[in-house]
Amino acid sequence: MSEATREIGFEQAQALEERYLMRTYKRAPVDFVRGEGPLLWDAAGKRYLDFLTGISVCSVGHCHPHVLKAVHEQSHRLVHVSNLFYTEPMARLAERLAESSLGGRVFFSNSGTEANECAIKIARKHAHGRGVAAPEIVSFESDFHGRTYGALSATPALAANEALGPMLPGFRTVPRNDAEALRAAVGEKTAAVLIEPIQGESGVFPITDEALLAARAACDEAGALLIFDEIQTGVGRTGSLWAYEQTPVRPDVITSAKALGGGFPIGACIAGPGAADVLEPGDHGSTFAGGPVATAAALAVLEIVDDPVLLRHVRELGAYLREKLEALDGVAETRGRGLMVGVGLEEGIDAAGLGADLLERGLVVNVPRPDTLRLLPPLVIDSDHVDLAVGLIGEALLGFSAV
Ligand code: PLP
Repeated sequence: MSEATREIGFEQAQALEERYLMRTYKRAPVDFVRGEGPLLWDAAGKRYLDFLTGISVCSVGHCHPHVLKAVHEQSHRLVHVSNLFYTEPMARLAERLAESSLGGRVFFSNSGTEANECAIKIARKHAHGRGVAAPEIVSFESDFHGRTYGALSATPALAANEALGPMLPGFRTVPRNDAEALRAAVGEKTAAVLIEPIQGESGVFPITDEALLAARAACDEAGALLIFDEIQTGVGRTGSLWAYEQTPVRPDVITSAKALGGGFPIGACIAGPGAADVLEPGDHGSTFAGGPVATAAALAVLEIVDDPVLLRHVRELGAYLREKLEALDGVAETRGRGLMVGVGLEEGIDAAGLGADLLERGLVVNVPRPDTLRLLPPLVIDSDHVDLAVGLIGEALLGFSAV
């Protein structure tokens, strides 16, 4: 968008946000107006390399022509009719999601947190079916599952905010990767173990195979469901369509959102055969969810991402990115899988300052904790983009000393 087509300037937009938006976000001082592939432009015409993709949403890059074409065509035919009727893109997307993962059935939502609400309902009803009066859901400390009350109650760092209480009853946590504590926490009352296979928001921490195997075994013994929140890890981010494919376990339910719509809001709860028929008419619903435009966008995204060549590229480029990062002074470690990478900085380096400096230099990253950068670039970047990003991080690090 050129300045000529803008009705207000950056300062005015800032003033309006300050006056009219609830103060829930601390925004970076950039006003993006255009995106193409891995690039963004701000209102002043400055170009940025986007290694955040709207928090793992624009995985096929900004304004991908295939997604735009699908959205354009669908939005000129039919935008919304509700879930009281059949629409083709929704039916085709449900088939594609189920057949590419657990089989079973899909419930669509408009966001990640709502996909988890569906999974929580399934888990509780499934447990009631075994005669459990007060079902419990077990998660790892520092898991992030969303901000509606069910998902929030399974997100310990946010659920600790007493001003928002009371949380829903029946949620408990164990330390990340503590297989023994997990086994001890899962019992007769457990409805589900709900975990992220790689924790994203808390700083990119993969869950160990040992902990995943313990979760699977404990759920099997208790008759509980193993639910993977793949909202950040799914849709190719880790180099397989779903992150669980690269682990030794198969969950009973997975939730998806973020990259699924390529920028259009959509979430999905996919329940395998053992949990697919738990919800019945009246148990759940949504006016907007599974609408023709969002589902057409998601079908287009999956046509791009569900491709063995692209997924291999994600694994290879992720390894290349981590190798280059680990060679930089100031980088203590990297964590993650595929193109979901946490960069652990040496002690004393202020990640927030580094992130702000990188934004000035034209690289968009995220800072999930005081010692970590999180990189979630588009899956369609190439090694030149990686070289450019790592070059910028290396230059920026020169101005930040470790203790
Ligand atoms: N689960 C995970 C793993 C996430 O990373 C997020 C968002 O960051 C959510 C759930 C919530 O998704 P949404 O913000 O679309 O509600």
